[in-house]
Amino acid sequence: MTSRSSKKRFHSSPDYLLPRHAVLVHCHEVSLKGRNRAHFETLLLKNVARRLQPAFTFSPRIRRFFGRLLVSMPDSESAVQAAEMIADVPGVVRVSVALRLSQDLDLIYPAALELMQSAEPYTTFKVSARRANTEFPIDSMELNRMVGGWLHDNLVDKTVKLRSPDVTLHLEMLGGSAFLYTQTLQGVGGLPVGSAGKVVSLLSAGIDSPVASWRMLKRGAQVIGLHFSGRPETPDTSEHLVQMIADRLEPYGGLHKLAIVPFGSYQRKIAELVPASFRVIIYRRMMFYVAEALAKQEGAKALVTGESLGQVASQTLDNINAVNAVVNLPVLRPLIGSDKLEIIAQAERIGTFEISSQTHEDCCTLFTPRNPETHASLSKVERIWATLPVEEWLAEIMTEMEYIALRPAEERSYPQSVDTAQEVLLPIEVSVS
Ligand code: ATP
Ligand code: MG
Repeated sequence: MTSRSSKKRFHSSPDYLLPRHAVLVHCHEVSLKGRNRAHFETLLLKNVARRLQPAFTFSPRIRRFFGRLLVSMPDSESAVQAAEMIADVPGVVRVSVALRLSQDLDLIYPAALELMQSAEPYTTFKVSARRANTEFPIDSMELNRMVGGWLHDNLVDKTVKLRSPDVTLHLEMLGGSAFLYTQTLQGVGGLPVGSAGKVVSLLSAGIDSPVASWRMLKRGAQVIGLHFSGRPETPDTSEHLVQMIADRLEPYGGLHKLAIVPFGSYQRKIAELVPASFRVIIYRRMMFYVAEALAKQEGAKALVTGESLGQVASQTLDNINAVNAVVNLPVLRPLIGSDKLEIIAQAERIGTFEISSQTHEDCCTLFTPRNPETHASLSKVERIWATLPVEEWLAEIMTEMEYIALRPAEERSYPQSVDTAQEVLLPIEVSVS
């Protein structure tokens, strides 16, 4: 024991009273990343902190803890609230709301009993004990037998069932503490945002591209949203919807930046210069061209779209190819093999569907021909492209691009995290009825 922690043992200040409630965050895939593990866990810690910070008046204490994160909370209500929020953070596999006490069986028994008495109605249970090292003298098999046997003797009408019981009481001996929990939430999985580099995501106010952006967040990318609005030819409704979509993505790590291009006058120019059936392809080429310029400016290494093969006329392989050929960066299409119904179900789960379903005029509904080309020939598209002053347009668009303020920087600051401090546990009081 360090002198620092032995000092704490006798300290009478309430600051040193240990919180009894904790959230244990399990991050499986993150832990598998070998030498990168510390880096990934630290990123996850920051993202979890960022997620929790606006929700509480106090700063939750978060630290890396035996391949997990440990979030200390002052009461069970805030622990449950925090756990529900943390479950949405990419990189989180499971979240448990735990009681934390010292490694003392006289405390563990009554706490375990109280936890089991307050669990949802059940008839069968088991105890699943684990110890991180041998600092605690009793091994996990023996702990299972001791705590399980004691619970069995003290719980009325409950039986032990080792395979698929209704309730499992987890008892984890970690870092000098005992953690007890019965409730575990499934996390969103994936990797912590910031671990996979930056992408520019072409974000309409439609159903698909918010889902595509979310999938990239889930795989750890920092997502820069780029929206083309029909302004000044249309009202700016789509811009407001995109900002609402950005808010909905906030729990999952949020957009890194959001850029808007007023594209209406360029569409008008394209409509004047390009045969009707090729207009949509040329609009989209121009969007990709701008997106690649933004990616270079921001150090992003790929573009992202919400395209799904064959979903609409512009998403045939020929048209995808005719548009794609204008850029050199990889274009990622996370929804390419998804059906509309799957995409809608995911949009509903992440909360963007309701916004995307609002009718609006964006740049895509402007000057849209009645019979767009569905199998565009690349050489023909390139010939048309070569007649247009695209470099001039690009230079203008890059100066007209507007960056939308997302959450203010001060709200993004991270609360205090405790990484190395050894805390000494004070016994918790548990009443046994
Ligand atoms: P979405 O639902 O994402 O709008 P969609 O089914 O309407 O997709 P399209 O309109 O052909 O299909 O758009 C295909 C992709 O092109 C979109 O998923 C998006 O990535 C990009 N895109 C389309 N319109 C815009 C826009 N106004 N601003 C930014 N990107 C756009
Ligand atoms: Mg669309």
